[in-house]
Amino acid sequence: MREVDFNTINHSKAITSDFLGDDPDSCYSQFLFDTLRTAVLYLDKWGRIRSANDMAKKLFDDQYLTGKTALEVFGNWDKPIQSYQEILQVARTGHSVTGLNEKIYIDGVECWFQTDKIAVENASHGFRGVVYTLDDISQLTQQKQSLSKSEANYRAFIENSDDTIWRVEFPSMISLNQKPEILVKLIRQQAVFGDCNDLFNKIYEIDDNQSLQGIQLQDITFQDKLLNIEEFVSNKLRLCDKAVEFELSNDEYKYLKTSVQGIVTDEALVGIWGVTRDITELRWYTDRLEYQATHDVLTGLPNRIQLQSLVEQSIVNCQKDKKVALMIIDLDSFKEINDTLGHDIGDYIIQEIGPRIKQQLLGASSVIARLGGDEFAILLVDINHQSQAEIVGKQVLNGIRKYFHIGNIDVEIRASMGISIYPDQASDFSTLLRYADVAMYCAKKDMIGLEVYDSERDAHSPKRLSLISELGKAIRNNDLTLYFQPKVSVCNQNIVGVEALARWTHPVMGFISPAEFVPIAEMTDLINDMTDWVLDESLRQVKVWRRKSLDIKIAVNISARNLLQENFCEHVECLLADHDLPASCLGLEITESTIMKNTEQTLLTLHKLNEVGVELSIDDFGTGYSLLAYLKRLPVKWLKIDYSFIINMLQDEQDQIIVNSTINMAHNLGLQVIAEGVENKKIMQCLGDMYCEQAQGFHIARPMPAFDFEKWYLGRYSD
Ligand code: C2E
Ligand code: MG
Ligand code: MG
Repeated sequence: MREVDFNTINHSKAITSDFLGDDPDSCYSQFLFDTLRTAVLYLDKWGRIRSANDMAKKLFDDQYLTGKTALEVFGNWDKPIQSYQEILQVARTGHSVTGLNEKIYIDGVECWFQTDKIAVENASHGFRGVVYTLDDISQLTQQKQSLSKSEANYRAFIENSDDTIWRVEFPSMISLNQKPEILVKLIRQQAVFGDCNDLFNKIYEIDDNQSLQGIQLQDITFQDKLLNIEEFVSNKLRLCDKAVEFELSNDEYKYLKTSVQGIVTDEALVGIWGVTRDITELRWYTDRLEYQATHDVLTGLPNRIQLQSLVEQSIVNCQKDKKVALMIIDLDSFKEINDTLGHDIGDYIIQEIGPRIKQQLLGASSVIARLGGDEFAILLVDINHQSQAEIVGKQVLNGIRKYFHIGNIDVEIRASMGISIYPDQASDFSTLLRYADVAMYCAKKDMIGLEVYDSERDAHSPKRLSLISELGKAIRNNDLTLYFQPKVSVCNQNIVGVEALARWTHPVMGFISPAEFVPIAEMTDLINDMTDWVLDESLRQVKVWRRKSLDIKIAVNISARNLLQENFCEHVECLLADHDLPASCLGLEITESTIMKNTEQTLLTLHKLNEVGVELSIDDFGTGYSLLAYLKRLPVKWLKIDYSFIINMLQDEQDQIIVNSTINMAHNLGLQVIAEGVENKKIMQCLGDMYCEQAQGFHIARPMPAFDFEKWYLGRYSD
């Protein structure tokens, strides 16, 4: 409470004169009071209103305030009794109370007034009163309130934010009407770190009792992690989600993402707001997700998805004179390991394969991936020649083949590998992968460990696909023909039979060798239709010849797939019956490699055919890996030595030795021998010396159509 000298108040003269009612000019004084925007009341020491100006009457909405007590008119006061008591107190003590803010509800609306309760001493009247002034500060209060409310909101928002929020200030505004490089320079010189929330210190590892506030931005050691000023200027004073790595004191990294926005007023930069988010956890999580999506769980090796992107990258980066090799490795008989030793051991072996491959790849630019199951892939980049991939491939296969010691047993794992080469064979990942796969299956089929892709062996190369469909058509439309090549007895040159050989002349592609179309047919079930057709046509021809009294045995070539058909033997029997021919007029030639695919079904079919009375020959003998002793157990009667040994046997001593010993061993095993590829008389004589039973070859006759054969046959016997 402060005692105010009444005379120090402006317009004090007027107030005293008017309120005390002893001034002759009171009507002017009253007029002046009534024009004031401040409500003014004069109350006596009992709190009774002695006088009031217009503003006061308006405020209390009462024209007759005079004579009423303050308590009566303060009904709308927030604390009426307290205000009333204060007036009495001021009057009693003479100590004024000024600058108070009081709340009044006017028509239910909260209004604020700044009030003075000024003690007035009137010596002449001998009593003390109170001048009570009320200034309406509602608007100002409201503004202040909303300002502090928004300030509190903003503080709460910043403090509770999950992001680090910080601000940069400039001691003076920086005009934007200048060249970018000047702007960069000015920002760099003037930027001062302003404010930030608590999170800032945590993220940037600043002690809690330290503050960057007021420090020049360029003096902050990690300034470049906060704001790249050049980029900020060139990007129209804003940066969005700029990712930076922040090195922590423990040498680990935090990953941060910052967005900044310049605050511009009147074409001048007045400050910069920054929001930084710690994305270390998010990054760890997304990295983990990405890792999971691109790696194999069991081995931790890249998976097919990752391999694809690495292959595609290496294709893009491959220099002109270099090559990229994609190698697919498939473990042999892995299913048996899983089935007999259990899946845990299977998993263990799979996990060990990666490191074994890796050991062999030291020094080579390569990636190892697991494609799934027991399939792995190697990407070899920067090679000069296909042979490099083959050398590495062989090393890898040898590396895999070492024993695994599992419990008391040693398990040997073998694998087959297919290789495809960019750019020689294909220029995209999926084709390279498919080619390597095709090559791998060929390697597996031939049991040769490794094979480089060869379109000739690919059943699905575009050329092959069109050949398959064309061949199917040719079989259905009876467009194939048969040629017949005689077989003669070596000792007396008598004709003992013919071999039926398929011929195909395509209307557009022309003559297609059986060496080309038979392997294609063998890759699909088309070979079954083809064999059907050849058997039927051969037997029909034999029947025709029989009617002409030409008693000729016919040999038909069959494939592995034919023997896998469950009812193949029954089918042959049906055909023989259809043509009304005995089984003895039919022989079947089965290549050595087919016989070696010794499945139960193959053996069963061979035995059935033998029982039925069909003579079986092993064709192309010498080209496979079969052991003679093994062949003894098969129900075959004839062994056809491959023409490749026969045609050169006079020049090549090795070949002659092989032919001679094959004939001897075959005889010891109770087999008879046919030599194919007899191209001259001398060979024929040589075979006679070796006691070879039969011969076939250009020296005797080339394969020929039925009509030509008949002529040849009749001519031979008429001589
Ligand atoms: P293959 O069964 O070993 O038939 C003998 C091949 O040797 C025939 O070739 C024949 O023309 C050829 N040849 C015969 N004598 C000589 C000779 O003195 N010198 C030389 N250099 N070659 C001779 P072709 O007709 O081209 O048949 C090739 C192969 O195609 C056959 O070999 C056979 O494996 C297969 N093939 C032919 N027709 C059929 C068929 O109807 N079914 C099946 N599954 N395979 C067939
Ligand atoms: Mg043959
Ligand atoms: Mg042959």
